[in-house]
Amino acid sequence: MRIKTSLEKGLNLFFPNRCVICGEHIGLSQLVCESCYEKLLSKGPAVTVERHKSYDLHYYSYYEGELKELILSYKKGRWRVYKILSELFSRLFEYFQPYPVITYVPSTSVSIEYRGFDHMKLIARDLSKRYGMMLRSSLIPVKNERQIGKSKRDREKLFGKYEARCTAFEVTLIDDVYTTGATISDAVRALRESGVRNISVYVLAKSKR
Ligand SMILES: [Zn+2]
Repeated sequence: MRIKTSLEKGLNLFFPNRCVICGEHIGLSQLVCESCYEKLLSKGPAVTVERHKSYDLHYYSYYEGELKELILSYKKGRWRVYKILSELFSRLFEYFQPYPVITYVPSTSVSIEYRGFDHMKLIARDLSKRYGMMLRSSLIPVKNERQIGKSKRDREKLFGKYEARCTAFEVTLIDDVYTTGATISDAVRALRESGVRNISVYVLAKSKR
């Protein structure tokens, strides 16, 4: 147990801090309660690799329970949650051997405006520091000027959601949730078109289908 200072006790009385997952009262410097944290750690990492045609997929756990709540709170703007999510990625990285160049699926400008940060970039930057990896912002959401007069679906069909600029041969690509694989496929295709040969994808959660 941590010993709380009287200042902390006072602040907690007026500005109670709550676990972003279950809502339990927690210390000011904490993000999640100990019980939720233990549950998160016990759920992963999944030690299987899914081999897809043009990439390998690694995931920490399934998109449910505490992990789902944590990811949702992060995407709603609780930016400090990146520390825990980065910790979960690092458990995956320690099990597998990621390529030394790391990139991420970028947020759209609308999402960045809403959240105030590019959520996967924040995690990628933290991981690059922890592991001495080279961080590259290689993927760029396709710009609007090419898309005038077409529906979103048509645009994505014609151009894909991303363009890529990357000079590495091998890349570690991270994202938060893997649902149908459409986003990752698009990102992988763009990276391959720019010359990347091998792509290892790491995500926090995979949807059960
Ligand atoms: Zn909790």
